[in-house]
This record gives sequence, structure tokens and C-alpha cells, in this order.
Amino acid sequence: MYRYEDIREVHLEVTTRCNAACPQCPRNLSGGAVNPGLPVAELGLDDVRRIFPSELVKRLRKLYACGNYGDPMVAKDTLAIFEHLRGENGVMELGMFTNGSGRTATFWQGLAKVTSYVRFSIDGLEDTNHLYRRGTQWDRIMESVEAFIGAGGRAEWDFIVFKHNEHQLDAARALAEKLGFKRFFLKKTSRFFSAGGVSGRQVLERDGGPSYMIEEPQNPLFRNAAVVRLAQVGQGGGFGDYQAETEISCKAAQHSRLYVSAEGLVFPCCWTGALYPPGKPVGKAQMWDLVRRLPDGKDSLDARRSSIREIVEGPFFQELVPGGWPKRSVKDGRLEPCVRACGGHDTHAAQYGASLL
Ligand code: SF4
Ligand code: SF4
Repeated sequence: MYRYEDIREVHLEVTTRCNAACPQCPRNLSGGAVNPGLPVAELGLDDVRRIFPSELVKRLRKLYACGNYGDPMVAKDTLAIFEHLRGENGVMELGMFTNGSGRTATFWQGLAKVTSYVRFSIDGLEDTNHLYRRGTQWDRIMESVEAFIGAGGRAEWDFIVFKHNEHQLDAARALAEKLGFKRFFLKKTSRFFSAGGVSGRQVLERDGGPSYMIEEPQNPLFRNAAVVRLAQVGQGGGFGDYQAETEISCKAAQHSRLYVSAEGLVFPCCWTGALYPPGKPVGKAQMWDLVRRLPDGKDSLDARRSSIREIVEGPFFQELVPGGWPKRSVKDGRLEPCVRACGGHDTHAAQYGASLL
């Protein structure tokens, strides 16, 4: 698939913990209770030192902290990890994605000194952001932003467009400019897709009871074009054919990138690393079929037990994942994450356009 020597980019999940409960995030059940299958896991500075050898960090062009299940802001050692990485490599792009609702001014000022950018996920204004970023507080976010920008940090704004905030895009962009953000991205989420068509999402309370709905934006320009096309394929009954036939073009290999989860597990990408989809018992997601074929199961991918080189040169990267691509149906082992993330209808790439700032 690709060679250890080629690795130039890393996507790092520092923690599976988060202060928020976004309804389309797999760490929780539609904005309610925490996903019961999700392990509480977090990487400390010592883990990062052990997982990423100096010779690897020194040749990276990019590392960003984001993840499938947690917000790096809440992890105990995040600032120390960034300081360590910057000390090892003074020129690589170092980024972090966060909801921004927490930590102290000192934390944000420290991050400003060592990161290349922090991308704040703020989906609306004071009266709407919390409808998706459930559990966040506007005042805390603004304090973080001001501390970070005030200390010279490069701040970027991601605005996921929904029906409930699409009227606020211009005002949010103006606020971003006033606060000193350098980039403002309108994000067209891919998470309204389902094989049966595009739909809204029922938000749940922690006890599982229904709360409000979140819905796609009404303006078609704010919808994810690849999701719209895929929904049309699904409605025409051709979704199975699409899954079987679409050409898979591996983004991880193209970008010489790998993903390290908060459990220290190494995957080509966050899509293959999503072992704990909400609503499925642990072990039922398709990737587990591959993981179970490894000599020590999940432990075989743990970079605290084996080196990243050993894992990348091992059967998961070299045989099992690429071996799924030529299969002719998901039932027969065609990897569903690979079809979804790297098939012909690229719902991931369709999320972003150019910065509006
Ligand atoms: S802020 Fe990020 S990690 Fe936290 S619930 Fe929302 S999407 Fe998930
Ligand atoms: S989803 Fe599959 S094809 Fe896409 S980057 Fe990951 S491993 Fe490669």
C-alpha cells in the first residue's frame, strides 16, 4: 500500500473525551448519551514520544490533531504534545481542530506559539451554535478565540451549515473578520447521507428521549453536492452497484498520511480507524473483520507495543486493507469506509470550498 519511509502527514486523535455532544458525532447517540461502546482513551506526552520516533517527526510536513471521537482541547497533555512536536520539527504545519469551549487563556496563548493554525468549529452565532455543538458555551469560545488570536495565533473558522443557521453566514463571516480570523470555511457536512436518501436527524436527550430535529440547509448551494448525487444513486436503486463498481483512490496513500487513534492504534486514515460506530455492538463494524485476522487482534496495531514501521510494513497495511479494494461487494469484503471516503462520489472533498476570508 505505502512505505514507512514515505510518511509525511499524520492525523492524530489525542483523546476520545469531549465536553460537547454534537448530534452527528459518533462519540454519542445523536447528541444524547455517550456511545456505550466507546473506550475512554487518551494519549499522554510519553505515549507520543514513544509512538513517534524523532526521525519520523523531523521529516513530517504536516500533523494535525482532530480525531473521530474526541476534542484535543480537553486532553491533559495537548499543549505539551504540541510543544514537543514543534521542538522536534520547527517548520512542519501543526494544526488542531476544536470546538473551543474550554481551557484557560494560558493554554490558548501557549498553543498560539507552537501551532500553525487552530481551526475552531463554530456552527452559527451565540443563539444557534449550541444547537449542533451541544454543551458548548459561546462566552467560553470567544474567550479562547481572543486569547489565541491575541497571542499571535492563526485562527480559522469552520461553519457547518444547517437549516437553523444558514441565515447567519454573512454575520458569522463578518464576526470572524472582526475577531481576526484568517480563514472562514463554509462546511457542507456529508453526515446527512444515508443509503435511503438524504434526511434530517432527530436529536436525543441523554435519557434517549427525543429533543429537536436538525436539518440540512434549504439553500441547495449549501448542501454537499456529492451527498446529493449519492442520494440520487440510492433512490434509483443503484447504490449496491455503486459500492461494487466505484473506483477507490486511496487518499492516505496519495498524501503519504496515516492516522493514530487515542488508543495508540495506527490506521491508514480516520475512516478505517472508526471502530466504534454508535448503535453497533463493539466488534460488528466491518473493520473488525480485518482486525480479527491479525495475530494479536487490535493490539497488533498498537504503536505503543510495536513501532509504526512494523505496523505499516505488516499485514494490515500491506495486505488486508488493499486486499478489500478489488472485491466486488461490501458483503464479500469490499471496505465500506474506502467506498464512502475514497470512491467516485467524494463526499469528504465536497465538504469544503475556498475560504470566504
Ligand atoms: S466537538 Fe468534536 S468530538 Fe466533540 S462531540 Fe462535537 S464533533 Fe464530537
Ligand atoms: S478509506 Fe480506504 S481508500 Fe480511503 S484513505 Fe482510508 S484506507 Fe485509503
